[in-house]
Amino acid sequence: MTGTKSPSNTVHVVGAGLAGSEAAWQLAEAGVDVVLHEMRPDRMTEAHRTATPAELVCSNSFRSDDAANNAVGLLHAEMRRLGSLIMRAADANQVPAGGALAVDRDGFSAAVAAALEGHPRIELSRGEISGLPPVDWSSVIVATGPLTAQPLAEAIRDLTDETALAFFDAIAPIVHKDTIDMSKAWFQSRYDKVGPGGTGADYINCPMTKEQYDAFVAALLAGEKTDFKEWETNTPYFDGCLPIEVMAERGHETLRHGPMKPVGLTNPHDPTVKPYAIVQLRQDNKLGTLYNMVGFQTKLKYGPQQQIFRTIPGLENAEFARLGGLHRNTFLNSPKLLDQQLRLRVQPRLRFAGQMTGCEGYVESASIGLIAGLYAAAEVRGANLLPPPPTTALGALLGHITGGHIETVDGPTRSFQPMNINFGLFPPLATAPTRKPDGTRLKGNEKTIAKKQAMSARALADLDRWIAEHLRVAAAA
Ligand SMILES: Cc1cc2nc3c(=O)[nH]c(=O)nc-3n(C[C@H](O)[C@H](O)[C@H](O)COP(=O)(O)OP(=O)(O)OC[C@H]3O[C@@H](n4cnc5c(N)ncnc54)[C@H](O)[C@@H]3O)c2cc1C
Repeated sequence: MTGTKSPSNTVHVVGAGLAGSEAAWQLAEAGVDVVLHEMRPDRMTEAHRTATPAELVCSNSFRSDDAANNAVGLLHAEMRRLGSLIMRAADANQVPAGGALAVDRDGFSAAVAAALEGHPRIELSRGEISGLPPVDWSSVIVATGPLTAQPLAEAIRDLTDETALAFFDAIAPIVHKDTIDMSKAWFQSRYDKVGPGGTGADYINCPMTKEQYDAFVAALLAGEKTDFKEWETNTPYFDGCLPIEVMAERGHETLRHGPMKPVGLTNPHDPTVKPYAIVQLRQDNKLGTLYNMVGFQTKLKYGPQQQIFRTIPGLENAEFARLGGLHRNTFLNSPKLLDQQLRLRVQPRLRFAGQMTGCEGYVESASIGLIAGLYAAAEVRGANLLPPPPTTALGALLGHITGGHIETVDGPTRSFQPMNINFGLFPPLATAPTRKPDGTRLKGNEKTIAKKQAMSARALADLDRWIAEHLRVAAAA
């Protein structure tokens, strides 16, 4: 598939996922012709179910939307300022989710598809790129994600002379709401928090006694798991997406301090008894007919999953729209292989974006697609766009991908692991706040909150300056 646009200044984007869709949009909005190549439905991945661009393969959450206190919320805000299609489609398709931004997955992907298909500068070309992109494609963004088709992954690995790095993620089950017993479960958001589009009662909560929790943990440990193939046995998990049974293996109480923590919730069916543990389910579609089990990603076999999850009070008769599963992840050793503009050092016509670069998550992947699109658009114009400042969420994430790693005896980049955006990736404040606006001293946790808020304010101010001083100048070149 080569597309029909003129080859000289056309950018080819491979993969219409979160990153590729955003990259194509940014290029087109900057006045550059784009051919966006997508292999689905001709060839599907292990996780995608549709042919639609920007399909969300697991959770329907873009996580916290709190730009003042949370790093991913800040990344949302920055992307909105940069005209992100992914954020626009997410905002237009919100479902209630406490403090999080969650979306109706079909509505979200349909909105992205409509925008891409309706843009006069974008041509959506269906078909797998089954090796290195043709040599006459002078500017390419590879955004083929964690489940990149094998022939392309192998061609890139050969080109970089690297042994592909890989690890496992697991996906959580989805339940039909009308099969949940609401005489045992109840609606409530933790601490009754009202988030974007939320009511303060957005999650379904299933309470457990100590005896039920003990039996549940024992069943998880004993349940039959998906077998590893020989080459997979030494592949580590990504810590942010640990299977529930692996968390249970780490300690009997681990789940009670993680996804099953019983805090900020009161059981209206029996307010006098404090549950020992609580399972939460979050709305998964706009209709409110499907709910996903929060933090319940798993590699248990399907039979044991149904059996064990139906021991949760309220889920005794649960019907599952999708069961949990395991998937591989593919990412580059980016600090070594990519330059600051996300180009492959050995073949700079190839730029990378999305999860392949070693970020983790829908929002992070889309944000790296966004900046890759801006870099490529500037390059087509003969301009050089400097990266956003490291004090911004986007700049901090880019810093993680293209550098900033711990020197080890094995070299500077051996510590590289995929990462969600977090305040730990930001440079420290010149002076940490010590007082409230009224002059009184900040105490304990107030200091942490004030520090995050100061970092967020600094980020948005620095991003605005970068937009005015660099992005607008590159766009006008
Ligand atoms: C099973 C699973 C569960 C996940 N769960 C979550 C989650 O709950 N929350 C979260 O924030 N993140 C999750 N992630 C992580 C990740 O952020 C998402 O996968 C995200 O979609 C990555 O965006 P991307 O654009 O890099 O890749 P993708 O969105 O996967 O897009 C890549 C696209 O490239 C296409 N493609 C691949 N190879 C080729 C080829 N050779 N030619 C043409 N097209 C090709 C694919 O079909 C796909 O459409 C999960 C990942 C997986 C695999």
